[in-house]
Amino acid sequence: MLDHHRPGLVLDPDAGDLRADFAELYAADHLQAELGARATIATTPGHVLAHEGGVGRSNELLLARLTAEDFAARRAAAPAPSRPAYETRELYATIALQGKHAMLPGVIEVLLDDYGALGGVSGYLLMAANCSQSGVQVAAYATLALRLQEITGRPVVTFGLGDAHLAFLASGVAATCAGVHGMSFQFPPAEFDELEEEENKTDEEDEEETGLGVYTYHPAILGNVGRLGSEGEPAREAIFKNQPCDCGHHRRDKPPQKKGEIVRHNSYAVSADARAFTSGDVLAAERKLLARAQNAERMRTFLKLSGLKRGFFAVSVAAARLRGGQDAAEGEGS
Ligand SMILES: [Zn+2]
Repeated sequence: MLDHHRPGLVLDPDAGDLRADFAELYAADHLQAELGARATIATTPGHVLAHEGGVGRSNELLLARLTAEDFAARRAAAPAPSRPAYETRELYATIALQGKHAMLPGVIEVLLDDYGALGGVSGYLLMAANCSQSGVQVAAYATLALRLQEITGRPVVTFGLGDAHLAFLASGVAATCAGVHGMSFQFPPAEFDELEEEENKTDEEDEEETGLGVYTYHPAILGNVGRLGSEGEPAREAIFKNQPCDCGHHRRDKPPQKKGEIVRHNSYAVSADARAFTSGDVLAAERKLLARAQNAERMRTFLKLSGLKRGFFAVSVAAARLRGGQDAAEGEGS
C-alpha cells in the first residue's frame, strides 16, 4: 500500500481547493512513496483534470510546490542511504494535460507561465491524457514541451503520445516514454483487477489478449502492425517477411509470438528507433524522420494499414515555427 493511498477517499482535484494540511501531507507521502521505491527521478503528483484554468490546476500547482519544498527540506537530491555517490536524485514536475484542453487558446501559455516559474524542480514530466493524435493536439504538446525546455533550460519527458514520440525526440524534446506494449494512456484507466490478471498471466496462457493488448512495433511503418489477435496476423506475417528483424528474439523473417517475445522485440526496436532520432542535430534528425515516414507511408499502403497519424507530422512543423522558420506554415494537418 502506498503511503499516500487513503482508503475510501476519492480525490477529485477539480472539486474545490485542497485543504492546506491535507495537501502538505499528501505531497510528503507521495514523495516518500517514490523515494522509498528508490526513484532517482521523483515526480510531483499529477492528476487528469476535467477543466483547465480552474481550481484543479491551482491544486496541481500547490501540490507541485509543496513536493518541491519537501524534496529540498529532506535534502533528497543527495543519493539515498547506501547508494553510490553518483546516484544523485532529482524532482520533475508532472503536468497531466488532456488533449482536448491542450488545443484550447491560451492554455499552453498559462501552463508555460505557471510551470516555467516553478522553483525546486529540475525537469518536467508531460503526461498526455486522451490525446487523439491529431495534428492540432500533438502540435500543442510539442509547443509546450519545446518552449518549457527553452524558457527554463530544464529537460522535458513526454508520455502518452503514441508513435509521435519519435517526432518529439527528433525535434529536440529531451526524452519520451513510449512503453513496450504499444499502449496509450487512457482516462479513466483500466480497472486494477483487469491489470492484475494481465500481469499474472504467463506467456502460455496469453494467447487470448484482453485488457491491455500487446501490439507489435515495426520500424518499417514507424508504429504498430495491424490489429490484435488473428485479424492482425496477415499484416504481421507480411511485414516481417518483407522487412526481417535482427533483434534476435525471434526468427528474423517471422513475427515474434506470445507476449514475452513481442515485448522483447518491441523493447529492442523502439529503443533502436529512439536512438536513431536522438543522434545528430535536430534538423538532420527531422529530415531523417521525414524520409523514414515517407517510406513508412508506402509500406502502410502496401499492407493496407491506416496511414501515420497527422500528429506525427505536426511536431516538426510546430518546432520550426518556434525556431522562427519560414517553412512552418506549410503542411499543417488537423
Ligand atoms: Zn525483432
